[in-house]
Amino acid sequence: MISVQSPESIRSLIRSRPASPSKLGLFLECPLQFLLGTDRALSARLPPHPLALLGSAAHKVIEQATFGSRPSGIEVVNLVKQQFESLINSAPDCLLKWIYERDGIAGVLPASQITSAARLVYQSLPTEGRSAEYIDHRVWREESFSCTELDLAGWPDFVQQKGDSIHVVDYKLGLGRDNEDKPNPKYILQIAAYGLLAKKSTGVKNVTLELRAPADLWLGNLTDELEEKVQQVSNQLKKTVPRNKPLDPLQLSTPGEHCKKCSVRSSCSAYLQRLEKWTDKTDETLSPKDVAGMVLSVNLNGEALNLVCASEARDTKITITGVVSALYAQSLSVGDDIKLFSLGTTEILGRAEYISNFHVWNSRNAKSSAFTFHIKP
Ligand code: SF4
Repeated sequence: MISVQSPESIRSLIRSRPASPSKLGLFLECPLQFLLGTDRALSARLPPHPLALLGSAAHKVIEQATFGSRPSGIEVVNLVKQQFESLINSAPDCLLKWIYERDGIAGVLPASQITSAARLVYQSLPTEGRSAEYIDHRVWREESFSCTELDLAGWPDFVQQKGDSIHVVDYKLGLGRDNEDKPNPKYILQIAAYGLLAKKSTGVKNVTLELRAPADLWLGNLTDELEEKVQQVSNQLKKTVPRNKPLDPLQLSTPGEHCKKCSVRSSCSAYLQRLEKWTDKTDETLSPKDVAGMVLSVNLNGEALNLVCASEARDTKITITGVVSALYAQSLSVGDDIKLFSLGTTEILGRAEYISNFHVWNSRNAKSSAFTFHIKP
């Protein structure tokens, strides 16, 4: 999708595919985040968090299920665990994989999260008892819908047509409700975009929408207002990131508080420049758990390295423990300038001017390790 191979030398990007409804929220925050986040080949994305993989595992189990007798709760838990393991096995080497191989699933996820994901699967499986409701109704599961005019294409989790109405479902591990009890607006935009794609693909006019989480549910209609919102975002997308046209990454970058959680920030030169300088202590666009500095010392302690780095911008020394040597030793030598992303800390944010003690693998409580940690030389 993107024309240049090396993240360091990104001069131009090209969008060659329609956008996925699941990425529209990223686009609204920052078009560069959307483009880099759509192409795994280009951006050095931060490694996966176990909860993200658990969500993917739950989706896979639902997607692969066939109509039939309902499996027991324990069977569903085991199916989710098997899928989780299969996703980890196919992931590149990372801290999550290393801890999983050492401690098993209990080392990376609390039992309550696994149960919660299994509950979502259990509630969503097309079982014998429920199969009657699908008779004479057309059902799509993880099938692609697309629309050239909207320049959107994607795979809704579940779509069911009953006569002159269509029901579109998206599964989530949580709906991220705000103080007013509204689900995350990104999720509403996503399900509305899937609804509009389903409407345009089938010609059915009445569309109902559902966001389903293990202990939460949001139901709505594809209103004129939601349709208009999707249309507006689609127009904005086509104008800002037109297809098959070289685009300047710097012009697309849109810094904001969302940068703190951006999974491609280690490939964003605008972010890297700000991280190196970091002269403004109140800069809300930088994650307090990212550091740029020079390696002062590297000491092996069992299976992990302890690092001390000098941060010129913060005018302080920073210690980092639990840097697993099997994964990261080759990237570290005294005197190197490095950037560290998504470190773990037990310091209370804001207690000191800057956090100066971080960890990566937490050997006493592996589940609180910095799973999305990344080093950039
Ligand atoms: S770090 Fe910020 S500016 Fe850079 S791609 Fe991510 S969201 Fe956009």
